[in-house]
Amino acid sequence: MIPITVVEFGEAEEALVLEVLRSGNIAQGPKVKQLEDAFAQLVGVKHAIAVNNGTTSLVAAIEVLDLQPGDEVLTSPFTFVATLNAILEAGATATFADISEDDFNVTAATLSAALTDRTRVLMPVHLYGQIADMEGISGLAAEKNLGIVEDSAQSHGSTQNGRGAGSFGLGSFSFYATKNLTTGEGGMITTDDDVLADRLRVLRNQGMRARYQYEVAGHNYRLTDLQAAVGIPQIGRYEALVAARQRNAAYLAAGLSSVPGIVTPRQLDGRRHVWHQFTIRVTPESGVTREEFVAKLGEFGVGAGIYYPKLVFDYETYHNRDDVKVGTYPVAERIVREVVSIPVHQNLSASDLDTIIEGVARAASAN
Ligand SMILES: *Cc1c(COP(=O)(O)O)cnc(C)c1O
Repeated sequence: MIPITVVEFGEAEEALVLEVLRSGNIAQGPKVKQLEDAFAQLVGVKHAIAVNNGTTSLVAAIEVLDLQPGDEVLTSPFTFVATLNAILEAGATATFADISEDDFNVTAATLSAALTDRTRVLMPVHLYGQIADMEGISGLAAEKNLGIVEDSAQSHGSTQNGRGAGSFGLGSFSFYATKNLTTGEGGMITTDDDVLADRLRVLRNQGMRARYQYEVAGHNYRLTDLQAAVGIPQIGRYEALVAARQRNAAYLAAGLSSVPGIVTPRQLDGRRHVWHQFTIRVTPESGVTREEFVAKLGEFGVGAGIYYPKLVFDYETYHNRDDVKVGTYPVAERIVREVVSIPVHQNLSASDLDTIIEGVARAASAN
């Protein structure tokens, strides 16, 4: 079976982890700082603040914007559950805007249509590796005086006209095991704002500025040097990883361009897609249901994933909560039934790619 994700480490990670182990300093220390500096450079910002996972990076980013009870964070309904859970954990109210079928992301137009007089923060999710239209969204935020938190968990190094995901507002990244860059568990907040960066560093460390000087009721959101040691060498290899994913994506898109009923993903003008996922849509024209399609793909040896099977709020536990305000989202409601992610990772061989293309073409035809 061709897997949908791979995790691979080399001698550089092994050597650095061993160095940290032997140093005896395994908690947050110089390696975390080194990872932060390298990551700030990758995103193109002044500050990167490492935390223990991508969900806490979202929580901290929202918290530092000082919302009041009832204030709303406007996000995408088509995302991983962490996006919603982070809003709720930060004590804010979640509202949603529809997505575009071009990039699966919210846009300035859909956000604008969903604004209320309690909206304080726009929280686009850069899904599958492609940054949302942050130029448009930043313009809306400036016009309406709103904060921006970019859920960039899947889009390390994606750009719009050269400007990095996570550099338009407060950026939030994940280093979970399946992401393009990983430390097993880990996260990062990015910003150009000196004051917010300083407050975030205090917030992640129990609210402590100097020893036993507590400025705010904070958290323990610290990353460890052991984890940073796993991440640092990957940043050095990251451009090569993205280049391989881009080549694979181009080959898959060309090979699948004329399969009836299958819509392939696109990199939009001015955007750099880092292909965390290659997500096709199985439309009604194909003559098979998505479930039949995925089962067939499995028979042909091609791993697949459905990210995500339902809209994020569409679970019993989120019903009838005052802090989850739901409307109707025609595009997201259609797309959520059609998406299937297929392998695009850097370890695919030429024959793997042909197996995937042939598998999709056969699975999409009813017989
Ligand atoms: C992975 C992910 C997160 C959360 O990251 P964790 O490190 O797993 O906590 C948040 N948002 C999106 C869109 C993600 O894909």
